[in-house]
Amino acid sequence: MSMRTVIRNAEVEGRRVSVVIDRDVVVELAEFVDLDDADVIDAQGGALLPGLHDHHVHLLAMAARREGVDLDPLNDRQQFELALQQAAALSGAGWVRASGYDEHRHGELDRHRLDALVGSRKVRVQHRSGLAWILSSAALEAVSDGELPEGVERDGDGQPTGRLLRLDGWLAERVGVVTPSLSEVGSDLAGFGITGITDATPNLGRGRIEVLRQAKADGSLPQRLTLLGVSDDERAAVEGWAMIGPAKVLVDEVIGLDPDLLAQLITAHHAAGRAVAIHAVSRAETVTTATAFALAGMREGDRIEHGSVLPSDLDSLLASERVTVIIQPGLVHERGDHYLDVVDSDDLPFLHRAASLLNAGVRVAAGSDAPVTSVDPWLAIAAASSRSTRAGKTLGGAERVDAEIALGWFLTDPLDPGGSVRRVRVGACADLCLLDAPLATVLAHPDASHVRMTWVGGRLVHS
Ligand SMILES: [Zn+2]
Repeated sequence: MSMRTVIRNAEVEGRRVSVVIDRDVVVELAEFVDLDDADVIDAQGGALLPGLHDHHVHLLAMAARREGVDLDPLNDRQQFELALQQAAALSGAGWVRASGYDEHRHGELDRHRLDALVGSRKVRVQHRSGLAWILSSAALEAVSDGELPEGVERDGDGQPTGRLLRLDGWLAERVGVVTPSLSEVGSDLAGFGITGITDATPNLGRGRIEVLRQAKADGSLPQRLTLLGVSDDERAAVEGWAMIGPAKVLVDEVIGLDPDLLAQLITAHHAAGRAVAIHAVSRAETVTTATAFALAGMREGDRIEHGSVLPSDLDSLLASERVTVIIQPGLVHERGDHYLDVVDSDDLPFLHRAASLLNAGVRVAAGSDAPVTSVDPWLAIAAASSRSTRAGKTLGGAERVDAEIALGWFLTDPLDPGGSVRRVRVGACADLCLLDAPLATVLAHPDASHVRMTWVGGRLVHS
């Protein structure tokens, strides 16, 4: 059996070439190659790219989302209530899990409103940010063994509201989460030309690390993995099958915004030889983060996750500290209409910036934050170049970038996300994405339907 694959008539950086893959490496790139003893694929002029890398996803949440009620597409209170009532009616004694809850569209939610909808059923509803859950009274009863941890919100009378903040791991342990399958997630990613992902879930823990290890080992998840939520004493558990990225640090208005405390945390990670990836979304969070970076100093690989509202007076600091901002351009499309409705007019000019960050010399790369946003990178590239919302309005038109620049945000190295774009060249590992048309054609109307084949390490994972 041949170990070599030849992709002929491929467009690589504007040239028509044949590309030879031997096992997991690109070994030749030339106008004419010897086709003996090789599997031959005719690219018919389609562009051959390095496989795309999504710099910020939550794999297990993506898998779990497929198995519960997805509230994200539901646009008002009525649809939301109906979906929960239906799911509860079918649940019997089991749990109902719903995700994608959004207070702006679905209304404020506590256990009392939930109980009125689902009665005595055990229902847990995850906020779209992934950071909070709302439990029905029966659900709360089922998970509490006397004492409730910090993070269980209480009302004025000291009674739990049903809202749980940052208790994902605690809840998963008590609910006895059935391990969701990652194989559909893996094939979805491959269908978009994605050959690597960075999982940005904080504090993965041994159990979730083991689920990922198995999915890698049995091939159901073919993508290369970089993990942020791995602690230093869990390093050995990921050796050989995943890379360890910067340490994920959550800073937010919920936990408190103390730049000195955050700077101490950054310094401690740096001293241990680890960069940091700081989750900062709102203006207060990004300002706190930038201030902390100024105090602690940066280390190669430091990044800000999201930076959704990033005041431009932080630009020179971020540029000089070489901090990479991992943006989510897909949100402009998916949530833009909502932002135009609710975001403070002072914040609008600084919302989901892109072009102005690049102009200021700030390092930028992209991720989807799936399942919060669609994992489709082509949708994100289209949104970055059009700045169009779902309803066809424009959000921050001055922040438009060329589609090719936006594509580049998905082509950088996982450990150097703001760095240079990976290339299809001799010696590179054969993580490849073949499109059905030349690059200029695809980028004129970016769409996932153009992805024809995907290889990870020379293995065909999508065609
Ligand atoms: Zn995230």
